[in-house]
Amino acid sequence: MNIPKRCDVVIIGGGPAGSMAATFLRQKGYDTVLFEKQKHPRYMVGESLIPQFWKYCDIGKVSDKIQAEGFIQKQGGTVVWDGVIRQAAFKDFGYTRPALHVERDRFDQILLEHARAQGAQVFEQVSVVNADLNQGEQVSVTYRPAGEKTLSQISCRFIIDASGQNAVIARQLGIRVADKEYPFMSVWGYFTGSKYVALDGKAYPFEMLRTVPPTTFISSTEGWGWSWHIPLRETTSVGLVVPIEQMKSVRAADEALEGYFLRRCSEIPYLNRLLETARYCEGSMHVIRPYSHRPKQLCGPGFYLIGDAAAFIDPVLSEGCLLAMYSAYLAAWAIDRSFKDPGRVAESQAFFTNQFAGRYELGHALMLTSYGASAKVSDVARNSIQFDSSRERELMYVALTMAGRAENLLKVVNPADKERIAVNKYRVLEEIVF
Ligand SMILES: Cc1cc2nc3c(=O)[nH]c(=O)nc-3n(C[C@H](O)[C@H](O)[C@H](O)COP(=O)(O)OP(=O)(O)OC[C@H]3O[C@@H](n4cnc5c(N)ncnc54)[C@H](O)[C@@H]3O)c2cc1C
Repeated sequence: MNIPKRCDVVIIGGGPAGSMAATFLRQKGYDTVLFEKQKHPRYMVGESLIPQFWKYCDIGKVSDKIQAEGFIQKQGGTVVWDGVIRQAAFKDFGYTRPALHVERDRFDQILLEHARAQGAQVFEQVSVVNADLNQGEQVSVTYRPAGEKTLSQISCRFIIDASGQNAVIARQLGIRVADKEYPFMSVWGYFTGSKYVALDGKAYPFEMLRTVPPTTFISSTEGWGWSWHIPLRETTSVGLVVPIEQMKSVRAADEALEGYFLRRCSEIPYLNRLLETARYCEGSMHVIRPYSHRPKQLCGPGFYLIGDAAAFIDPVLSEGCLLAMYSAYLAAWAIDRSFKDPGRVAESQAFFTNQFAGRYELGHALMLTSYGASAKVSDVARNSIQFDSSRERELMYVALTMAGRAENLLKVVNPADKERIAVNKYRVLEEIVF
C-alpha cells in the first residue's frame, strides 16, 4: 500500500457521501485520498432511492454505470398510514427516470470504483483513528491499515469526514448530539419469494419484478413507528422502525429480537400477506439502536462533516443517500472555492453550513411527529425549501401526506406557496388486491 504523506484533501469513509465527494473533487483537479475501513462490496442498509439522486450522479458522471447494473426500478410508493392506503407515482411529478431499489453493497462499490477511476487514491481496509485539527493551515489524519499495529499520518489542507454513523471527527470533538425528538431504533432482515405491491394496487409474485415494476411499501405501526418492504433483485428487505419505549417491553418479556421481528412482520396488515409465500433468510437480521443525531457544528478549521457523519433523522422519506450526495457536492464546492481564493475560506464554510444545515433542519422539521407541540422552525430551514423546484416540493407534500404529517410542510413554506404545493397527486385505494 503506497499511501502518500500529503495531499490536498483526505476523505474518511467510502459510502455514497465519501465516494461522491472524491469524484467531485477529482473533477476539479484536487489530489484526493480516501480511506475506507472495510473492503467493498460491504453491507449497508438504506436500499430505497428517490429519483432526485440522479441529479448528483449526472454531475459525477456515474449515472451510466448505475443504469448498466440493472437494479430494480420502482415506480412510486404505496403507504398504509393509520389504515388509509395511498399510492403515488413518480411520473405524476414529471420524473422521467425511475427511482431504484439497490443492494447497497453493489451500489456503494460502483460509486467507490468510479471515484478511483477519476483518479482518487482509494485505500480500503484502512481505518482513520483520529484527526489533528490544530495545525493552522495544515491538518492531518492518523490511520491504521488492517492487520498492522503501527499508526501513520497524512497531512492535507482539508479533511472531509464521511464515516457514516461512526462520525469520527464529530465524536472526537464532542459535537455529535443524540436527537431526542427521534427516539427510534430499527430492526430488519431479508426474505426470498415475497410478493410485492405494484402501481395498480395489486400484489404480484416476486418472479414478476422485471415485468411489473414494484413500489416501495410502507405501513405505519404504533407510536409513529413504521415498516418497510423493499424488493431487491434476489431478496426483499423488510424492516421495522420502532419507538425505543416499545422495545423496553420486548426486553421485559425476554423475547428474542429475531422472534420479535418475525412476529411483528406476521402481524402488520398487508405486510403479513406479502410475506405469506416468503421464506426468511436465516441469520439475516440486523439491528441499529438509537441512530438519530444532530451536529453542533458542520465544519470548522480544516474539516467538513457530510452524510450520516454529520446528521441523521428518521429514514421514512428515503432521503439518506440523497443528502449524502448533496452534502458531498456542497463540501467539494466549498473546498474548491477555498483553494482558489484562500481569503474566503470562512465565507465558503458559512455557505456550506447554511445550505446543508438548511436541508437538514428542513428534514428535521418535516419529519416531526408532534409538530405543533415542539417545532421550532429555523430560518435556514424556511430558506432551504425555497431552493427546491416546485415538483420536489409537491413530491415532498405528497410523501408527507402519505406518512401522516403534511401539515408540517404547510407550516414551513411561504403562505403564498401553500396552494401550489398542496396537490393531491396520489390515489386512495380501498384495498390491496391479492
Ligand atoms: C434503518 C435505516 C434505513 C434506511 N433506509 C434508507 C433508504 O431507504 N434510503 C436511503 O437513501 N437511505 C436510507 N437510510 C440512510 C442511509 O443508509 C444513509 O443515509 C447513507 O448510507 C449515508 O451514506 P454515508 O456515505 O454518509 O455513510 P455510510 O453509507 O454509512 O458510509 C460510511 C463509510 O465510512 C466507513 N468508515 C466508518 N468509520 C471509518 C473510519 N474510522 N475510517 C475509515 N472508514 C470508515 C464505513 O465503513 C462506511 O463504508 C437508512 C438508514 C437506516 C439506519
